[in-house]
Amino acid sequence: MSWKKDCASALRSVEELEEKIQLSAAERDYFHIKQDTFRCAVPLYYLSLIEDSENDPIRLQAIPRIEEFTVKPFECTDPLGEASYKVTDRLIHRYRDRALFLATDTCAMYCRHCFRRNFTGQHEGPAGDTEVEAAVNYVSSHPEITEIIFSGGDPLMLDTKVLEGYLARFKAVRSGLVLRVGTRMPVVMPSRIDAALVSMLSEYKPLFIMTQFNHPRECTAESMKAVSALIDAGIPVLNQAVLLKNINDNADTLEILFHCLVRNRIKPYYLFQGDLAPGTSHLRAPLGEGLRLMKELRGRVSGLALPVYAVDLPCGGGKVPLTEQYITGKTEKGWELTDASGRTFLYPEV
Ligand SMILES: *Cc1c(COP(=O)(O)O)cnc(C)c1O
Ligand code: SF4
Repeated sequence: MSWKKDCASALRSVEELEEKIQLSAAERDYFHIKQDTFRCAVPLYYLSLIEDSENDPIRLQAIPRIEEFTVKPFECTDPLGEASYKVTDRLIHRYRDRALFLATDTCAMYCRHCFRRNFTGQHEGPAGDTEVEAAVNYVSSHPEITEIIFSGGDPLMLDTKVLEGYLARFKAVRSGLVLRVGTRMPVVMPSRIDAALVSMLSEYKPLFIMTQFNHPRECTAESMKAVSALIDAGIPVLNQAVLLKNINDNADTLEILFHCLVRNRIKPYYLFQGDLAPGTSHLRAPLGEGLRLMKELRGRVSGLALPVYAVDLPCGGGKVPLTEQYITGKTEKGWELTDASGRTFLYPEV
């Protein structure tokens, strides 16, 4: 199980990082502030994708910077407002027909833009027996739920056997349940997609893998091989990219990314506007910029290659596609967005 070694060898401290890479002042300073920080882990594989400059798109996603301590007044620890939709310790039921299960809170890499940072990496660990049972019981008494989304953290941090136990327990509730597993492993640690995992997952169809490629340089021979193994085993792979400032916020980069994904049989599903998680403003592209990019891309790429540009409305408003129908106003404070039920929300122009 080489992926366990790959997890163990991920770089977590300033000393470990400095042995492998020359840190900039902004990066080094992050580690010198003694304050509660979002954990750091950079797998050696992902580190090897970094080229040189301080503004390298791989580097910006992996290596923390001092800017993470800049918290804007409108940023909040629960930007998705999920607390109010938590129906058990680990289950979030916000949309009628689907529920999201927080399988574990660890990740192979801690993405610096992570918007679940209030949960991710907080040492909660894998869901325990009673937590799984509570979630399974809830799903069993709610027949309107037809899909379970395994999320976290990264569910593929669990041992294959442990994950199989969770999948089996949900599947036992109703055999028709559709399963989704949200994971960044194909991108940050393709070695995790080993034969045992692929064959286990293929026993739980219909099962979809939702991954997160954000930049064309992440589409390497290794990551594409991992994805192919899943798809060849009958497991569709969809991509949920995040729009990130100085990383992928230009039409050329996104066009290359989406084409590359489709060529490798991955359907670009969402492009997310950055959520208002604390300390992420240096990575958040303005919403207006995202709209401009989507308009340009619509003329350039096929429908198959084009994801839906969407945002999770601040304060638990839910996901809405960023199209004219939902954008009802713009003031100097920001964008006024309206959800399907007519409630309005303000998304600040960062
Ligand atoms: C994103 C999300 C889903 C899935 O939404 P889709 O639009 O179906 O992809 C489900 N539950 C929660 C809580 C979510 O945040
Ligand atoms: S893999 Fe997902 S949950 Fe984990 S740090 Fe990255 S964005 Fe956050």
